[in-house]
Amino acid sequence: MRGYRYRYYPVDSDLYERCVGFAWCSGCRIYTGNMIHVPRGAVIVDELAHLPAEQRDQLRRSEWKLIDYLDRRASDTT
Ligand SMILES: [Zn+2]
Repeated sequence: MRGYRYRYYPVDSDLYERCVGFAWCSGCRIYTGNMIHVPRGAVIVDELAHLPAEQRDQLRRSEWKLIDYLDRRASDTT
């Protein structure tokens, strides 16, 4: 299973600890997306952090694009 999570709410929001979490299997392409709790102090390493904000938003709007992108990225580095 592969996973990706990111913070949805800005740092000054009361909901900052409510984050989006994805998990999927690259083989069967089954995925689940949930709101997850990540404590304020915990650091999330965002695999999309290096992208321009516009492209990042575009990927996050479509689960399949996001999963495709992250799968391709994973196979590039191995
Ligand atoms: Zn599978």
